[in-house]
Amino acid sequence: AKQPAEHIWFNGEIKPWQEATVHVMSHAIHYGSSVFEGVRAYKTPDKGTCVFRLQEHTRRLFDSAKVYRMTIPFSVEEINNATLEIIRKNKLQSAYIRPIAFYGDIGMGLQVPFGQEAEVTIAAFEWGAYLGEEAIKNGVDAGISSWNRLAANTMPTGAKAGGNYLSSQLISMEARRHGYGEGIALDVNGYISEGAGENIFIVRNGVVTTTPKTAAILPGITRDTVMTLLRDMGYEVREENIAREAMYLADEVFMCGTAAEVTPVRSVDGIAVGHGGRGPITEKVQDKFFGLFNGTTEDKWNWLTPVYD
Ligand code: PMP
Repeated sequence: AKQPAEHIWFNGEIKPWQEATVHVMSHAIHYGSSVFEGVRAYKTPDKGTCVFRLQEHTRRLFDSAKVYRMTIPFSVEEINNATLEIIRKNKLQSAYIRPIAFYGDIGMGLQVPFGQEAEVTIAAFEWGAYLGEEAIKNGVDAGISSWNRLAANTMPTGAKAGGNYLSSQLISMEARRHGYGEGIALDVNGYISEGAGENIFIVRNGVVTTTPKTAAILPGITRDTVMTLLRDMGYEVREENIAREAMYLADEVFMCGTAAEVTPVRSVDGIAVGHGGRGPITEKVQDKFFGLFNGTTEDKWNWLTPVYD
């Protein structure tokens, strides 16, 4: 693959991209034992390049590790600093950042030795709109997947673990095969859960609803951002189960995530949502969201961490 940046932070050292490799017998490759984050840094006019909600992402990384009893041999502060360091080292103005903690070549067998420490790497590179610039403006066509998200007592969707992304891959592969831009899964109870890598919001009669944490979702940091921005603008935001047909009958649907940012959904299962394009509340929340980075939205919540001072 094309090398996206010069360096990678690897267990406390800076390594050339090509040398940041792991053994084929790594536990994570065989058993999916990794936890990771997706973080973005944006170039802002006043504070230069800033990482968005760094504390929350690092916290979730440690939370995901805790669920799997995984020891990350670095402190939260060290990971935060390493995130800033690798952006600087690669001289990036904006970045997608991928911290990951995983078990390496710890010997054959599923069982992780007691006290085993995880390896930790952080990559940072330039990455544009995940679902495309066009989608940000005009929306994506989404399809409901025949694959359900994980049931709560099978694998924890609240932990951002590598293994969970086999579910996401099935959902997005099926969606692409059917000609959709993204797939959305139902939970095992039949309610809307989330996209392959995005949380879901619907709008009807000016009321915004997103799926509750109990609907087998990863509680996204962008989801929280969007809820906060909408409430700050005076909108009512509910966390309630969303039935499949509520997507068809919504005035607006949008999805959000660190990679996908805020992307309108213009159709679901081939049924136009509203007038079949970006809706007005979606556009308002996009303006507020991207405004955090272009300086038109005041960062009241201290979500931006400057990279270069
Ligand atoms: N759900 C899933 C399955 C995801 O992979 C992501 C992306 N991390 C999200 C939701 C959105 O989370 P966030 O806004 O924290 O990126």
